Amino acid sequence: MITPDVTRFSISDALHWARLQLPNTIDRHLETEILLAWVLNRPRTSLIAWPDKRLTHGEKTRFEKLIDRRLQGEPTAYLIGRKEFWSVELKVTRDTLIPRPETETLVQRALELIPPNACWHIADLGTGSGAIAAAVSSERPHCRILATDRSNRALSVARENTRILGLPAVEFYTGDWYQALPPETQLNIILSNPPYVATGDPHLHRDGLPWEPPEALISGPSGLDAIQELVCRGKVFLKPGGWLLLEHGFDQGERVRKLLLTEGYHRVSTHRDLAGVDRISEGRAPLQ
Ligand code: GLN
Repeated sequence: MITPDVTRFSISDALHWARLQLPNTIDRHLETEILLAWVLNRPRTSLIAWPDKRLTHGEKTRFEKLIDRRLQGEPTAYLIGRKEFWSVELKVTRDTLIPRPETETLVQRALELIPPNACWHIADLGTGSGAIAAAVSSERPHCRILATDRSNRALSVARENTRILGLPAVEFYTGDWYQALPPETQLNIILSNPPYVATGDPHLHRDGLPWEPPEALISGPSGLDAIQELVCRGKVFLKPGGWLLLEHGFDQGERVRKLLLTEGYHRVSTHRDLAGVDRISEGRAPLQ
């Protein structure tokens, strides 16, 4: 028997309806399930287990409103305030970039360089939600990680994430790139996913990007302003033989390698992400 608060709209009806609303440029199956699971406060698997369960009026209205906001372009991660990255779930707000799968390539490469029981000193510059710092700390708990951001609002999200995840080895510093670090800091490895999109790049109008903080995406006319600063001053903060690993745009590999070589880094190379495009470049500070 249906109680007055329950609609005739089942979980499978709701998903079917929502998938018809959204454009095929997004992963409609995944995103509608994430949004409905959020509204119902249940794991996604329960949607598949209970397709005939009917929504209450409140649930139906909340789901319709979320689908409407998604239709206007707002990213699912901001709608639910969460995003999975590596093996962690992170809180995200509009003060932080939404962590991307391509940044997992940076984490993976960093973990190839950092030995399993190392007590390295690591920086994550421009940490945003704390994604890189949290992922690396969860895999290398003995390392000390200095996570920086110029935005205090982003840092409070990052701080909350590492507190919830129980990662006490991550410390936070406010400021622009290296200026945030305590003087005399000497690092084994510097990691960063800096802004690298060029001002006016049409890509900035793409699904979701207009909702993200522009200062986390855009970096000057070529997109390389932040990367240039990170490369040029990195050696001051790196121990001899320390590594600099930077994420960059698919067409920036050659220019970033050139910058690293000009600044005297060794072992300069570029790695591709899962989409098969250049995404991470690295270099090593001289051994002496
Ligand atoms: N990879 C992001 C994109 O979607 C850009 C992230 C960044 O600038 N760090 O374009």
